[in-house]
Amino acid sequence: MRVYFKCLACKHENQLNTDAGTRVEFEMKNPKRKYKCVNCSRHTRLSANKLYTKQSKLISMISGIVFLVGTLIALYFVVQMIYKMETVVGIYIIASGLLIPVSIYNILNKEDQKRVKIFNQTYVKE
Ligand SMILES: [Zn+2]
Repeated sequence: MRVYFKCLACKHENQLNTDAGTRVEFEMKNPKRKYKCVNCSRHTRLSANKLYTKQSKLISMISGIVFLVGTLIALYFVVQMIYKMETVVGIYIIASGLLIPVSIYNILNKEDQKRVKIFNQTYVKE
């Protein structure tokens, strides 16, 4: 995942890719605590406690698309059924289908929030 730190000199927000899930793991993989700023090229010495992660934009985007497309497809069928005057049960089934994209959206977001929470709430000993 991506973790971020702010350069002490220029305040630029830098990102690092890591497979560490917590700050403790991150610190074990980066014991020197030295990170280079891509903006001003200065090396910043930081405790892993100063690193943080955020919700993935990609996951928000994917879940947003699933939500939108799923909702539109379901709405299309609802409109079709109303137009053809089909049964209320049919409309009910399609309307329940609306819950699928909503669930996918929720699951994706919750998993990502969990990841962010785990990283941001574990600290290393200074
Ligand atoms: Zn900088």
